[in-house]
Amino acid sequence: MTGIAYTGVPSAEELRACPGIPTPERRKKGRVAVIECVQEIPCNPCAAACPFHAISIPGEITALPRLDGELCTGCGRCVALCPGLAITLVDETYGEEEGAVDFPYEFLPLPAEGDTVDAVGRDGRTLCAARVVSVRRPEANDGTRVIRIAVPKRFLDDVKSIRRLARKEEEDAWTTK
Ligand code: SF4
Ligand code: SF4
Repeated sequence: MTGIAYTGVPSAEELRACPGIPTPERRKKGRVAVIECVQEIPCNPCAAACPFHAISIPGEITALPRLDGELCTGCGRCVALCPGLAITLVDETYGEEEGAVDFPYEFLPLPAEGDTVDAVGRDGRTLCAARVVSVRRPEANDGTRVIRIAVPKRFLDDVKSIRRLARKEEEDAWTTK
C-alpha cells in the first residue's frame, strides 16, 4: 500500500494530482510555494494567509488547496501558518549549483545560520548535506520557525526538512551507553 493514508508520505500519484504544486515554468522564475496537501480535510488557513490570493480552496472547505503560481511571490507567509506543515518554498534560481528550500520547523534545538545539517526527504531519510541560510521566526506565528537551506539542485524536488538536531543530553545519553 502506498499513499499518505497508509504510509504518512504522499505517493508519486498523489503528488502528480495535487493542485498545490507549481509548474516547472513557474519554478524557473524564482522562489515559489509548494503545497503538498493531498488529503481532503476541513482546513483553510493557507488560503486566508496568502496576501496575494495565490491559494484558493474551491467549493467545499475539504477541497485540496490550489496554487496559482503566477500570483505567488514566494513571500513565505503560508509556510508557518499551515498546521499540517505541508507547505515549503523552492527556489531554483538561488545559485548555479544550489537551490534553496524553506520549510517549517518545530523542534529544539534550532540550527544556526551557516551550519551544515542533514537534509531529509518526505519519508525522513537523509538525502544530502545542506547549508543553513537563515532561521526566521515569522511574527504571524507564535513559535514555528521557517528555515532556509541550500542544497545541490539535483535534490531540490525531494528535500523537505532537516534531520532533527540531537539535544545535548540525548547525545550524552547515547555516548555513555
Ligand atoms: S508564499 Fe506568499 S504569495 Fe506564495 S502562496 Fe504563500 S503566502 Fe501566498
Ligand atoms: S493550511 Fe495546510 S493542511 Fe490546511 S488546507 Fe492549507 S495546506 Fe492543507
